[in-house]
Amino acid sequence: MAFKATVLTLYPEMFPGHLGAAIAGRALERGDWSVESVQIRDFAIDKHRSVDDTPSGGGAGMVLKPDVLARAIDSVAADTRPRLLMSPRGRPLTQERVRKIAGGEGVVIVCGRFEGVDQRVIDARNLEEVSIGDYILSGGEPAALTLLDAVVRILPGVMGNQLSGVHESFEAGLLEHPHYTRPQVFEGREIPAVLTSGDHAAVEKWRLAEAVKLTAERRPDLLSADEDQPVRK
Ligand code: SAH
Repeated sequence: MAFKATVLTLYPEMFPGHLGAAIAGRALERGDWSVESVQIRDFAIDKHRSVDDTPSGGGAGMVLKPDVLARAIDSVAADTRPRLLMSPRGRPLTQERVRKIAGGEGVVIVCGRFEGVDQRVIDARNLEEVSIGDYILSGGEPAALTLLDAVVRILPGVMGNQLSGVHESFEAGLLEHPHYTRPQVFEGREIPAVLTSGDHAAVEKWRLAEAVKLTAERRPDLLSADEDQPVRK
């Protein structure tokens, strides 16, 4: 069965967005995956069709109303798909989580707006908060598109060359080694000789050494990631 994404949003026109182009777009056309967007505002029942209200306790901005969002969520058929809420307070998205999601039948994603979502609907509908990084977006939609991009590209049959997924950053807990292609000399810089030597074992050894070096320089946290306590700075 094809992977099915349902996105709850105030801006359904943002989907499939960039996922309608390139590799993901071709997979969408083939029916390898689908995305349906649900307009949260359709579940507002007051005469102004309001979806947000002022924060209890005061302060700036507006908060998405729990009753409206709950009705929108309940309109999506109950199934075993995980229900995520894109949120900067969430657990940071990892390739491991992406792989798990891609291995399932699909995902339901709630996109926040304004200051965020009333806590009671997060609790009552058991939404798993997921962050795409330590910065604040204006809404959950680009975060949802980012998550779906990462998921769709690893669905079976989506990437032309399946092997190109194997050595990627994070797949082995390391950042990826550098890449080169022709010409042999670019602005006086040569391709490292080992890569054109034809010695596959030497190439593999060089790539691993480069990956370890790069990871130690840029992301030492990844090198200690499989210990019980990840290093935090
Ligand atoms: N006041 C909130 C930020 C709200 S931003 C806070 O300080 O935590 C509005 C919406 O954008 C959020 O509800 C969420 O759905 C989305 N969003 C913003 N940054 C995000 C991030 N880094 N990852 C995932 N979603 C994000």
